[in-house]
Amino acid sequence: MAMTLSPPADSKLVPRLGIKLDNISKRYGDHVVLDDVSLNVESGTVTALIGPSGAGKSTFLRCINLLERPDAGTIRVAGHTIEPGKTVNARDLAALRSTVGMVFQSFNLFPHMTALRNISFPQQRVLGRTREEADERSMQLLERVGLKEKAGQHPGRCSGGQQQRIAIARALALDPSIMLFDEPTSALDPEVGLEVLSVMRELAADGMTMVVVTHEMQFARDVSDTLVVMADCKIIEQGDPRAIMSDPQEARTRRFLRAVLER
Ligand code: ADP
Repeated sequence: MAMTLSPPADSKLVPRLGIKLDNISKRYGDHVVLDDVSLNVESGTVTALIGPSGAGKSTFLRCINLLERPDAGTIRVAGHTIEPGKTVNARDLAALRSTVGMVFQSFNLFPHMTALRNISFPQQRVLGRTREEADERSMQLLERVGLKEKAGQHPGRCSGGQQQRIAIARALALDPSIMLFDEPTSALDPEVGLEVLSVMRELAADGMTMVVVTHEMQFARDVSDTLVVMADCKIIEQGDPRAIMSDPQEARTRRFLRAVLER
């Protein structure tokens, strides 16, 4: 559907240039997936999005960088305002997408490119960096995720956890101010997932604004500033993660927490 993307908005509307989603609705045919959902994410904070499968978490996350277009509602993200109405032009969309990095459950690395190339290529394409500039930044980021020695390897020669860390480095290479994670460890063995979660913890400690869809309750409790529980196309509960986990107010939250913690 048609949308408008306006230039950086009044910062008072967006808490410290984080994310403000108002009255987002989305349906696929007759199937309602998001029903009038609103959320504020302050800059420099971590929000964990939890809830049963099919609740709409992934769709909601993907609305933030317009991988999904909501049918209704306003998205204010890092100073951009997007509302139903007019088309988002390709340049504005590219600006939005480079401000908002995304890491998926499946790593989506190019199999025919080395780790270094996977990270450098988007910088050249999106930011117009030279190959030398891009490679220099890529090496810094590979070092940051603990994989400098993998620069010349193809993804097929790296473990799942290493591939996901390369995917995180690739997203960071576009210098985003916000990072979205869609179940980044759920395709990984638990011990391998831990190395990815450790990179994410460091990113959070560095002050990155993050929204993370996850089933990792320990990560959600220890790292997130706000826990958001979704069920049946809506946010049913949100607040301090420890408070919600120890004393959930909603029966559906209680059921969900019991189910994941018993796994
Ligand atoms: P969650 O991340 O909480 O598991 P999703 O956002 O992935 O939930 O999905 C919410 C609902 O939307 C599910 O019922 C799913 O089947 C449906 N859905 C998601 N994407 C599509 C799509 N592209 N077409 C039709 N239905 C979809």
